Amino acid sequence: MNAPVKPVLELLIAAPRGFCAGVDRAIRIVELAIEKYGAPVYVRHEIVHNKFVVDTLKAKGAIFVVELDEVPDGVPVVFSAHGVPKAVPAKAAERGLSYLDATCPLVSKVHRQAERLVAAGRHILFIGHAGHPEVIGTFGQVPEGEMTLVENPAQAETVSVPDPGKLAFLTQTTLSVDDTAATLAVLRRRFPAILAPGPNDICYATTNRQSAVKAIASSVDLMLVIGSPKSSNSMRLVEVAVRNGTCATLIQRADELDFAWFDGVGTVGITAGASAPELLVRELVAKLSERFEVIEREVETIEENVVFKLPRGLEAA
Ligand code: SF4
Repeated sequence: MNAPVKPVLELLIAAPRGFCAGVDRAIRIVELAIEKYGAPVYVRHEIVHNKFVVDTLKAKGAIFVVELDEVPDGVPVVFSAHGVPKAVPAKAAERGLSYLDATCPLVSKVHRQAERLVAAGRHILFIGHAGHPEVIGTFGQVPEGEMTLVENPAQAETVSVPDPGKLAFLTQTTLSVDDTAATLAVLRRRFPAILAPGPNDICYATTNRQSAVKAIASSVDLMLVIGSPKSSNSMRLVEVAVRNGTCATLIQRADELDFAWFDGVGTVGITAGASAPELLVRELVAKLSERFEVIEREVETIEENVVFKLPRGLEAA
């Protein structure tokens, strides 16, 4: 008897997708620290927001903690890619802990800008999402009260500032490009003298992944975004897909797939947030292949070749 014919499903796979240079570097730092110092190596906070990555590193000997107090004396600790308030390395130094900073260099750049702007007497309006570790880390670079969080255009309309003539703005690196432009437009209208150190601080990886989703959104019936609900850039990919006219769902692993989603669906878009490894994309395609005759097509909007240097002392580990 012939095997039943599987329905055809076309997959448009967005490129760039998945790991960015900052995530790649942060994971390498933990791996190399384990090689160099031996397990366990402590990591303050999830090194990147992806359960698969965290579980893989745990299996290699990483122990993830929320605060430094949980790190015993005499063992190395790594700070996550999102960055940490200045008080954290200061406290580690006070305790004599050796630490490795896996903060993405693009986040560190925002930290240095924040310090410079405050030193120059400017109050900073910071566009970002309350509670995100990157926002907490950036606020922790300057004295309390020198920076005000603005989450959206509505808050930009009402935010009050100490002196409109001495203002600057900075942004989280993983925001929606379109939402940030809307928030900035309000700030620029209300505070024409606001200093812009650059167009914004949304990183190349966030920008490129959102552009890649926009390029395929109108051609697919459903967009699957692989990423964690804690991952800001992954959540933004879902929003970008929906705004550009398609249904979109965030999944962490292929086993979360519900084949009921595919009723009447002929073309599916696939992308992955900056902290999701390619292996999870391949796992998803394999899962879909169990049910469908899949036809894969990668749609590349820009080639990425960004690589960040490792901290000194780890390259030769
Ligand atoms: Fe760095 Fe951007 Fe990746 Fe965040 S998403 S780690 S800012 S490159």
